[in-house]
Amino acid sequence: MNGHSHVHKCDHLISTISDYVDGSLSPQLCAELEKHLCECENCTVVVDTLRKTISLVQTCAEDDCLPGEVRARLFHTLNLDDFLKNDAGV
Ligand SMILES: [Zn+2]
Repeated sequence: MNGHSHVHKCDHLISTISDYVDGSLSPQLCAELEKHLCECENCTVVVDTLRKTISLVQTCAEDDCLPGEVRARLFHTLNLDDFLKNDAGV
């Protein structure tokens, strides 16, 4: 048993999640990430949050109504390392 290897895998895959949501991730990494998402709630939450935030921003951008507060929140969300640190630290 080695709990650290799981955390390490998350760390590796987190860096691919923004590309995955963006649709620019290679099919191979895409499959690897999706397989991991089936068994990792932590990463699933990250993908879900990122998708919701991006769709919110895209909807707002069409109306040119993106407030600074939402933009700041998006920045925070896209900074996935901080996001995970906050989540695990509390
Ligand atoms: Zn994970």
